[in-house]
Amino acid sequence: MESKKVKIGKVYVDRDLCIGAASCVAVAPGVFELDGENKAVVRDSKGADDETILLAAQSCPTKAIIVYDEEGNQIYP
Ligand code: SF4
Repeated sequence: MESKKVKIGKVYVDRDLCIGAASCVAVAPGVFELDGENKAVVRDSKGADDETILLAAQSCPTKAIIVYDEEGNQIYP
């Protein structure tokens, strides 16, 4: 069985959930960065391949990173 490849559309950080653990930045520095309040922001949602972005989202301890596909369906978490 082959899993369908999803294309990531939008990536979003829920600032209320983010605790500044920065694992997303470590996994995908081209996509995420910490702002002055130590919260992650999306600098470029195309700054890494889809697999890396998904890995970064999965690395977040508070699941603060919300990932949508190109049709706007939430694919993570
Ligand atoms: S991994 Fe999650 S909690 Fe840590 S900085 Fe990124 S979004 Fe925030």
